[in-house]
Amino acid sequence: MSLQSENDAQTSLMEEIEEMEEIVETEELEDIEDTEKNTKEELEADFWRNPSRTILQAGHESQDFIPDTSELLRFFYTKLFPYKIYAEWLNYSKEIDKKFINREFSFQLSNEAVIRHLSFNNPDELKAEIVKQCPLKIDIGAVYSAKPKDKRSLRPSAYKPVEKELVFDIDLTDYDDIRTCYKGGDICLKCWQFMTVAIKILDVALREDFGFKHLLWIYSGRRGVHCWICDERARKLNNDERKAIVSYLEVIKGGAQQHKKVYLYKNMHSSLKRSLVIIEDYFEQIVLEDQDVLKDEQNWTKVLNCIPDEGLRKELNKKWLQLPLKPSIDKWHDLKSEISHYKNKKNQWRLDSSISEIMFQYLYPRLDDKVTTQINHLLKSPFCVHPKTERVCVPISPDNCENFDPLKVPTLTTLYRQLNETNNTASDKSGTKRIHHEYEKCSLKSYMKYFENFVEGIMKEIREKNREASEMSMEF
Ligand SMILES: [Zn+2]
Repeated sequence: MSLQSENDAQTSLMEEIEEMEEIVETEELEDIEDTEKNTKEELEADFWRNPSRTILQAGHESQDFIPDTSELLRFFYTKLFPYKIYAEWLNYSKEIDKKFINREFSFQLSNEAVIRHLSFNNPDELKAEIVKQCPLKIDIGAVYSAKPKDKRSLRPSAYKPVEKELVFDIDLTDYDDIRTCYKGGDICLKCWQFMTVAIKILDVALREDFGFKHLLWIYSGRRGVHCWICDERARKLNNDERKAIVSYLEVIKGGAQQHKKVYLYKNMHSSLKRSLVIIEDYFEQIVLEDQDVLKDEQNWTKVLNCIPDEGLRKELNKKWLQLPLKPSIDKWHDLKSEISHYKNKKNQWRLDSSISEIMFQYLYPRLDDKVTTQINHLLKSPFCVHPKTERVCVPISPDNCENFDPLKVPTLTTLYRQLNETNNTASDKSGTKRIHHEYEKCSLKSYMKYFENFVEGIMKEIREKNREASEMSMEF
C-alpha cells in the first residue's frame, strides 16, 4: 500500500470513528438528560471514561447505582419488552393487518396523564412510541372498524369496536372483607391463594363449559390476575353475550354491605358442583388455617351472618365466646355439627346448603364484571410493569398456578442487575456471546418462553384452519 493511500485509509477510518462517536454521544446524552441531576454527573463521568459502553453498563460499574424508575422503564422497554411476539399475538397472524393496526392502545404517562385512542401501523412504530414515552402503564383496548388514532376525524358510525379478547379481572381488594392478613394494595403468599383458587375454578369452567382453548393468565403486577381468552369465538362476542357469560359464572353477589353474598339452588348446576370440589380441596388450608376466619368475634360474625337462622347464630356465638381461642378448624366443625343436629324441618335444606354457601362466599372468584362485559373496556397489557412494585405482568400457567409466587416475580431492578451481570461476564470472557433475545439472560426467560408457546398454539390452530379452508375450496 502506498503512503498516500495508507494516509487516505487512515483519514477515512478517523472520520468513521468520529462519526460513530458522534452518534454514541447524541444517543447517550439524550438518555442522560432523563436522570436525576446528581446521577447525571456520575453517568457523564462514566460515559467520558468509556464512551463505547452503554449507560446501563456504566451504571453497573459503580456497584450500588440503580437508575430511577423512569430510566429502568426505558431500559426494560428498550431491551426486554417482547414486541415481535406481542404484535403477532394481537394480530393473530405473522402478517400485520387490521387486527393490529386498528387496535386501541392507551398509555399512562409519568405525569399521570392518560392518552387513549393510540394506534400503530406496525410493531416498530409501537416500539418507537413506547420507548419514547416510557409509559407507566400500557392498556389494550378493542380492535375497531378504523384506526383509533383517526377517531376524531371519523363519523361515529364509522368507528365501532369489532372484536376483543374476552377478559377477566380478579383483584384481591375485592376480598378485603374476608382477608385477615392484609387489606388494600398489600398482599402476601397466604392471601394470594385466593387467586390460585380463582384461576383453578375459572380456567376449568371456561374450557369445559364454553369450549375455549387459548386462555392467557397474567399477573397484574400487584394484587390480582387477568385472563385473556383469545379464541376467535371469544373475540367476536358482543356485549350481551359477554354479559351472559359473566352471569353464568357469577356466584358472589352484592357489595361490602351485603353480609350473605351466595344463594345456591336446590339442584346445583354441574359447573358449581365442579367448583365446589375445588373449593373443598382448599377451604381448610386457606380459609380456616391461613386466614383463620373464625379467630375472633369480629371475624366469626361475618361467617355466622351467612347462616339463615337467628337461634343457631346466637348459639354458636355463645359457644365460641366461652372458648374464643379454639382454632378456626374446630369452630368450623362446631358449625357443621350444630347445623346437622338442629331441628328445623321447614328451613333444614337452606341451613344445610349454607355450609356450601359459606365455602363459596370465601373462595369462589370475585369478578370485576365491567371489565368483562364491555368490549371497549381497556385492560392492562401483559408484560408492562407495575410502577409501585416494579414487577412485570408475567403469564401464570393455570396448571401450575399453585406454585406461582407473586413476590418472586422479577422486578425492574432485578432484571437490570441480571442483564448487567451477564453482559459484564460475557465481555470479560470473550467479548461477545450470541444470544437471540436479551431476556434469555435474565429471569424473564421462562415467562417469555411460556408466552411464545402460547402464541404459537394460537398460530398453529389458525394455520390448520386456513389449510382446511383452502383444501375445501380446492375440492369444489
Ligand atoms: Zn395476605
